[in-house]
Amino acid sequence: MRATTIHAPFDMRVEDVPDPAVRRPGDAVVRVLRSCICGSDLWAYRGEAARQPGQRIGHEFLGIVEDIGADVVGVRRGDLVVAPFMWSDGVCDYCREGLTTSCEHGGFWGSVGSDGGQGEAVRVPFADATLVGLPAEAASDDRLLAALLTLSDVMGTGHHAALGAGARPGATVAVVGDGAVGLCAVLAAKRLGAERIVALGRHEARTDLARRFGATDVVAERGEAAVEAVRELTRGQGAHAVVEAVGTEQSMRTAVNITRDGGAIGFVGVPHGSGTGLDLSVMFDRNIALRGGVAPVRAYIPELLPDILDGTVDPSPVFDLTVTLDGVPDGYRAMDERTALKVMVTG
Ligand SMILES: [Zn+2]
Repeated sequence: MRATTIHAPFDMRVEDVPDPAVRRPGDAVVRVLRSCICGSDLWAYRGEAARQPGQRIGHEFLGIVEDIGADVVGVRRGDLVVAPFMWSDGVCDYCREGLTTSCEHGGFWGSVGSDGGQGEAVRVPFADATLVGLPAEAASDDRLLAALLTLSDVMGTGHHAALGAGARPGATVAVVGDGAVGLCAVLAAKRLGAERIVALGRHEARTDLARRFGATDVVAERGEAAVEAVRELTRGQGAHAVVEAVGTEQSMRTAVNITRDGGAIGFVGVPHGSGTGLDLSVMFDRNIALRGGVAPVRAYIPELLPDILDGTVDPSPVFDLTVTLDGVPDGYRAMDERTALKVMVTG
C-alpha cells in the first residue's frame, strides 16, 4: 500500500510500504477513507520534533474495517469507524478512569513501528477499545465525514480544553489560538453553555469562523494589547474560563493574564519553547487553576458523537483544503505557510 513517510524536515513522501495485517487477536485493519494533517504534525515537519527517516505520520483517520483478529467482537468487517489519535486497551486503571492517553498499553499512530493515519490503511491494536463505530450511511456524506473526522483529535481536544477551563452555562470563555483546536474549543464552549466567548486571533478567515462557531467577541491584538482588550470586555476582570490552544510561552502568559481571579486555564497547546510563560506567584495570588494536557479523546467520542450526527455541532468547516494521498506533501506546505487552516486527505 501507499503511505506518507517523513525522511527529514520538509521532506514528506508518499511511497510504497508493507500492507498492514492483523498480528494479534485484538487487532483490526482499517482502510482509511479520510485522514488529515494536524497542527502538531508540523512540529515534525519543521524538524522541531525528532523523527526517524522513513517514519510514518498522521494520527487522525476514519475508515472501513477490512480485517479483524479472532478476539475482536466490537467491530466487524465493513463497519465505518473512527479512531482517536492514540490507541488504548480499554481495561487498565487509566482507561477505566477515562484517561485513555495514559493507557499502560497505549501508543500513537505514526510512532516507530506503527502505521500512520496518512496512508491507505492502518493496523489498529486493541480494536475493540480503540475504534468507535459510526452509522454506515455517513460514508456517503462528505460533510458529515469531515465533521466525524474531527472526533479523532481536534473536536475532542477542544472539548478537553473547554472542560478543563471550566466552560459552563453563564461563564465567559476566552480562547487563545485560532487554529483548528482553538476553533473547536469555541464550539465546545458554546455546547457547554458559555454565555460569552472571546476568540483571540489575527487571521480574519479564522476569526470569522470562530464567530460562526459561537464566538461573541474577537480580539485581534496580541500580548499586552490582547490582555487589555479582553479586560475591557470583561469589566476589567478577565474570563472565567480560558483555553490555551497554542503552546508557546507568550500564549500561556496571555492566558494567565486574561483569566479572572478564581478562574481556570484549560491548556491543550503542545508546549514548545524553553519556558512555560507561567508565573506561579501570580497564579497563587489570583487563585488561577491550570488543567488540561494531552486530550483523552477516546473517552469523549461517545458524548460528542450524537451532537455531530444530528448536526447540533458541526466542526467540518475547519477543513479548508482537501488533497488526495499523493497531495499530502502539498498539504503540509500549505499548513506550514498558513495558507490552509486544516487539510483533509481523501483516500
Ligand atoms: Zn489502558
